[in-house]
Formats: sequence, structure tokens, C-alpha cells
Amino acid sequence: MPFPSGFLSRSARAIAPRAPTASAAPSRAAEARRLLIERISDFITKHDLAVTAHNLATICGGLSGASPELAEAFAQREIAGEPIDQRWLDTLARLDPDGHARLAELETLMDKLEYALMRFAQTARSGQTETSDHRDAIGIQLAAMAEPNDIAQVLDLSRAMMARIEQVEAAMARSEAETERLRQNLAMARMEADVDHLTRLPNRRAFERRLMSAAAEARTKGEPLSLAFCDLDHFKLINDRHGHEAGDRVLCAMAASLIEYAGDSFFVARHGGEEFVLLFYGLDKEAARQRVDGMRAAQAARQLLNRENGQPFGRITFSSGIAEVTEDPDIRSALTRADAALYRAKQEGRNRVMVG
Ligand code: GH3
Ligand code: MG
Ligand code: MG
Repeated sequence: MPFPSGFLSRSARAIAPRAPTASAAPSRAAEARRLLIERISDFITKHDLAVTAHNLATICGGLSGASPELAEAFAQREIAGEPIDQRWLDTLARLDPDGHARLAELETLMDKLEYALMRFAQTARSGQTETSDHRDAIGIQLAAMAEPNDIAQVLDLSRAMMARIEQVEAAMARSEAETERLRQNLAMARMEADVDHLTRLPNRRAFERRLMSAAAEARTKGEPLSLAFCDLDHFKLINDRHGHEAGDRVLCAMAASLIEYAGDSFFVARHGGEEFVLLFYGLDKEAARQRVDGMRAAQAARQLLNRENGQPFGRITFSSGIAEVTEDPDIRSALTRADAALYRAKQEGRNRVMVG
């Protein structure tokens, strides 16, 4: 059986050496694109970063010059000789006003949807009440019918009306149930948007919202509020030695320990990767330091086992950076101070808590 036409010619083109033609020469734009991709790739390799859409967008923004702020931030970091790692890139994203605008847009959209559903549910309910009233009135009239002459005709008409009203009522009940289902789905989606899928802890988005409200409340009450970043030490080695899935289990175990330590007294979230963030209501930075240091010591004393093969993971420690949020009216400065303190804790040997 002959090959379909086009099959051979396509294969032949694939193996034939390419003749340099005028059209094959890359245009200036294509060459610039290729160079940019190469620089992005070198950057990712040099700084050992993960290839995620988020990282690519940030790095491309900085290297292409599309975002002068990012380009400036990259340059300053290089000059200062500080590492360009995942947590620093995440810090940049936190300062990205577009990211915040996008979150705000999503919130508004969800609010609008919720409001529309609420209005629809109200309309469906009030429609149902009205038809019920009509039905009751017709039912009473039917019972009161006494004239023998035209009673058959009136009864037929009334029965037809009753049937129609019952149909409308059934449709209303169905649409109300549907509205309720949609409302619940939306509430679930809202909750899910605040939860980290691996550990089921609140995620960074939830933390940022909580930070804003807790800071406002602390200021009103005149109480201190502190935050702590806790980043697992040498976590990459766990993945390298035991595999990514085992690494995931360690993250879940760490989340469970933090929840246990926290009880009702402070808020815990997964900030991203192998980094958690804690919010201490009513504690100044020294009190928060003592709490975190206690947790650090307890964690360092634990031995975790890989339940797949019984092998010990060894000591899994974390380093922490603390800042008192209420020390500065600008909440972001607390994030930066805690970040810098964590960086120092890493520099000075890990498995320690520093205050910013
Ligand atoms: P350091 O003590 O300096 O914090 O070293 P580190 O190895 O913990 O830090 P680094 O930032 O070099 O590496 C973090 C690693 O965490 C790399 C990344 O693959 C891993 N990681 C991030 N998120 C996850 C996750 O959800 N699951 C697993 N298994 N690994 C993750
Ligand atoms: Mg780490
Ligand atoms: Mg980290």
C-alpha cells in the first residue's frame, strides 16, 4: 500500500540538511528572543531555581527590561552579593503591585457572583411564596363552591390553574436547590483558594489577609503582634536523598507539628516551598522568639523516619527570622525585617532563631 502523499516528503525534509536560505536567517527580533531565552535559562541554572510559570514571569520581567523595578532589584541583589533564591524571588512577587491588583480583582468578582446568587435565591423564594398564596386562595374558593349549574366548568378551570401553579412551584424549588448548590460550591472554592493543597494549612494568600486584619486589630487594642518565618534547613538534601514524595511527607509532618505547637495561641500558614510563617497575637518579638526557640529545640530533638522503608531522615531542623509587626506602621517592613533575620540565621549556621 502506498504511503499517503506528503508522508515521504515530510520525512525527507526532516533528514535533509538545511540549506541556508534568506528566509532561514533569523530576524533581529527572533535573535533577540533567542538571546533572552538563553539568558533566562542561564539565570535559572546559575541560581538553581525551579522552572515554574511564576519564576519565569518574574525573571523574564527583570531580564527583558519589561519591568525596570525587577531589573533594578536583580542588579542590586547581584551587587550586594546576596543569593537570588526562591524565597527572595517570592519576596519580589509579594511587592508586585500587579499581583495584588489581580487578587483584588478576583475578590471583587467572587463578591459579585455571591451577591448575584443571593439576589437570585431571594427572588426564587419570594416567587414561591406568591404562588403558594394564590394556591391557598384558589383552594379556599374551590371548597366554597356551592352553585350546582356551572360548578363543573369552574372546577375544571380551577384544577387546571392548580396544576399549573404546582408546576411553577416545583420549578421554583428546583431552582432554589440549584442556587443553594452553586452558593455552596462558591463558598468551597473560596475556602480552597486559601488552603495549601499539600499540607492543608492556610496558604500565603490566607496569611497575608490574616496579617492585615491582625495588624489592624493589634493597633486598635494597643497590643503587640509578631511574625516568624520558619524555613527548613537543607531541605533540598531530603529530596535528593529520599525523593520528592518523601520530601512532601516531611513537609506534612512539619505542618502537623506546627499545628500541635500552635494550638489556639497563634496562626500558622505555609508561606511556600519549605517555609512556614507564624503570627503571634499579643506577643512582642522577644516573647515570640522564646516560643519559636522552644519549637525549634523540640523539632531538632525529633527523629523522623521514612515510613516507606524505615530509614531515618536524620535531624530535620529549621531556622527562623522574627519581626514585631507593630513596631512600624508599614506592615511590609516587618516582612522584610523577618526575611533579613531569617537570612542571618541561615548565614550563622542554621537551626537558630534571629530577631529582626
Ligand atoms: P536552606 O537551609 O538554605 O534553606 O537550604 P534548602 O535546601 O532548604 O533551601 P533551597 O531553597 O536551596 O531548597 C529548597 C528546596 O525545597 C528545593 C525545592 O525543590 C524544595 N521544595 C519546595 N517545595 C517543595 C514541595 O512542595 N515538596 C518537596 N518535596 N520539595 C519542595
Ligand atoms: Mg530551606
Ligand atoms: Mg526556603
